[in-house]
Amino acid sequence: MSTSFVIAPPAQPQIPVAGTTQAFPVRRIWCVGRNYLEHIRELGNDERQPPFFFAKHADMVAADGAVIPYPPLTKDMHHEVELVVALKSGGADIDPSRALDHVYGYGVGVDLTRRDLQMASRKKEQPWEIGKSFDQGAPCGALRPAAEIGHPDKARIWLKVNGEMRQDGDIAQMIWNTAEIIAKLSQQVSVGAGDVIMTGTPAGVAALAKGDAVACGIDGIGTLNFSIK
Ligand code: MN
Repeated sequence: MSTSFVIAPPAQPQIPVAGTTQAFPVRRIWCVGRNYLEHIRELGNDERQPPFFFAKHADMVAADGAVIPYPPLTKDMHHEVELVVALKSGGADIDPSRALDHVYGYGVGVDLTRRDLQMASRKKEQPWEIGKSFDQGAPCGALRPAAEIGHPDKARIWLKVNGEMRQDGDIAQMIWNTAEIIAKLSQQVSVGAGDVIMTGTPAGVAALAKGDAVACGIDGIGTLNFSIK
């Protein structure tokens, strides 16, 4: 094992912990597709298919208060407000009854999506990367430790654009709950400390434009604000 790098190691992506000077180091970002029935219906997808996972890169996290450049290649970037779950440990084939033991804490995030590119990929049976994976495509608010707030399974989740409510749901509407998501993902990969899961979005996704101010939150967990330039 080498003890030195040939280039400077990249900065460790991180999400602040609310009310502290500490941060959670991000290893990977996993996202759940299709976890709220009304959102499945608004995009015309099959309600009977189980949710599935896709990924964003750790360094695509954007901080609370970020001014995010409108991304290239798209004419239809959408917001998707989601419950964020941050893991402190993990493993493979985790039993749902033990899954929450691996959670460090919770936050609110937005799965920014180049919808036109995602839909074009889907039609061509190509991967979703171009639609989902781009610089600053995963803004996340500060985390709250489960040691402080427990494991919320019912809380209002909302997102406003320029003061107007666009998404207004409840995390209790998730088809698969947090424990089931962790258990299912751990069948696909070994999950571990630093992994962040974005757990799917309620209905009301819509386009963002340059100059828009986004405010979102999950009651009892946190808030997140960012704008598009
Ligand atoms: Mn999403």
